Amino acid sequence: MSNRQTKTDVILIGAGAMSATLGILLKELVPDWNIKVFEKLSNAGEESSNEWNNAGTGHAALCELNYTDEKSDGTVDISKAIKINEQFQVSLQFWSYLVNSNLLRNPQDFIMPLPHMSLVQGEQNVRFLKNRFEAMSKNPLFEGMEFSDDPVKLSEWMPLVMQDRATDEPIAATKIDSGTDVNFGALTRMMFDHLENEQVEINYRHSVNDIKRTTDGLWELKVRNLESGTVEHHTAKFVFIGGGGGSLHLLQKSGIPEGKHIGGFPVSGIFMVCNNPDVVKQHHAKVYGKAKVGAPPMSVPHLDTRFIDNKKSLLFGPFAGFTPKFLKHGSMFDLITSVKPDNLLTMLAAGVKNVSLTTYLINQVMLSKEKRLEELREFFPNAKSEDWDLVVAGQRVQVIKDTEAGGKGTLQFGTEVVSAADGSIAALLGASPGASTAVHVMLEVITKCFPEQLKEWEPKIKEMIPSYGMSLMENPELLKEVHTSTAQTLGLSGSEEDRQEKLKA
Ligand SMILES: Cc1cc2nc3c(=O)[nH]c(=O)nc-3n(C[C@H](O)[C@H](O)[C@H](O)COP(=O)(O)OP(=O)(O)OC[C@H]3O[C@@H](n4cnc5c(N)ncnc54)[C@H](O)[C@@H]3O)c2cc1C
Repeated sequence: MSNRQTKTDVILIGAGAMSATLGILLKELVPDWNIKVFEKLSNAGEESSNEWNNAGTGHAALCELNYTDEKSDGTVDISKAIKINEQFQVSLQFWSYLVNSNLLRNPQDFIMPLPHMSLVQGEQNVRFLKNRFEAMSKNPLFEGMEFSDDPVKLSEWMPLVMQDRATDEPIAATKIDSGTDVNFGALTRMMFDHLENEQVEINYRHSVNDIKRTTDGLWELKVRNLESGTVEHHTAKFVFIGGGGGSLHLLQKSGIPEGKHIGGFPVSGIFMVCNNPDVVKQHHAKVYGKAKVGAPPMSVPHLDTRFIDNKKSLLFGPFAGFTPKFLKHGSMFDLITSVKPDNLLTMLAAGVKNVSLTTYLINQVMLSKEKRLEELREFFPNAKSEDWDLVVAGQRVQVIKDTEAGGKGTLQFGTEVVSAADGSIAALLGASPGASTAVHVMLEVITKCFPEQLKEWEPKIKEMIPSYGMSLMENPELLKEVHTSTAQTLGLSGSEEDRQEKLKA
């Protein structure tokens, strides 16, 4: 049965962090545009953006060792780290604008300051970390980074990690206090609450099943209302496919040539969560290690303090894993149904190239709790089995495409905006660095899809993001201003005691 039919300016598919960000950006730029959202689950931020489904790291490349590559001469290339840090500064500025404009309240409900640390063991790794520190600490973006290979100092920084550790191997860490823990679930929900107040129609329990171009150049979506079981048709001038892991299938349905020859490979995540409050309170940092040989970059282990539901928690992981689902609430047929005639060779080539990755992921799935505890004990030697439970996190669908550098079927670990040549539809694929860089990525969608309006919108974008179009690294005065003002607005400065008081209040 088919009933409701509507026409609108913009449709956002999916109620995750990405659609929320694009929705608010567009509402601020053109308040009178009509926006509709279709989300198949019952609430916003229930898939990857949910606080229990991701690691909540405000990725600013302060501690993630996979963003800094060691070159053959031993020096460290920090260009990727610079790019990611600049992108995170864009998010901080946008969130500050939302708080300053009273569009979001209580920043401590979604962002908290937390030292970011990188930890390594072994002579070679310590040398790498030292070289990385030398390169980064000279850069104004990473000001305040400290390095230590003194076990006494390290015990001050991370007591749980150093307690009863056999220190016969060299060990070292870096620490920077300007790191953050971000509750992307809370942030997403807050942003959708705001959009609802702005008369954006948010349709939960509505699954988008098809996307077609109409003869008059619009996009028509076939949507199943999961409450009533009816099929609806909704038309828009611009569609954003922000379905997370569900985006690839929808992009394929749109039939745009830019969406051809692209495949997806799902990597799942599992965390261990500490249920012992006495242990939780002894740690106050995100401590990132180095990925094991053969492990994909997103499975770098880390021991993290998290702030969820105004409470401190402690998580370790993620352990990678494999299921053919593209979404946590997806179908076991997702992987197979994503293989189409146009991406078959790409997918086959990726399969051949990534046998070792697949084996690694399958081995990860088979790990017993005791084996996982062994990995945890590399971080926290005294970890006790009874203090830790497992939580299944979200799915990350890695993009597979043919590239000049990697050849056919190359697995990508970044984020890709795929848009039609006329800018009428765009999809976001991939999941890394993820929600931390949502504002930068959604500005990329705007740049690609609304080039004619961009000039007119620029002053408003600059009001929201003062550094828009500029490199902060090359403008240290502006960087200082941005750091000071975002830290003040988002409550990232001040003492730990003040914040604990706020958390209790
Ligand atoms: C294990 C793990 C750890 C991570 N850690 C971090 C981190 O520390 N820091 C960071 O910045 N990022 C991290 N990420 C990445 C981050 O979570 C994602 O990049 C981000 O949440 C993606 O937001 P999204 O809106 O694109 O997708 P999602 O939040 O997944 O939202 C997509 C929405 O679309 C809906 N949908 C899908 N298909 C349809 C359809 N056909 N019809 C209607 N609705 C549909 C889904 O139900 C879902 O609600 C992590 C991810 C994982 C899985």
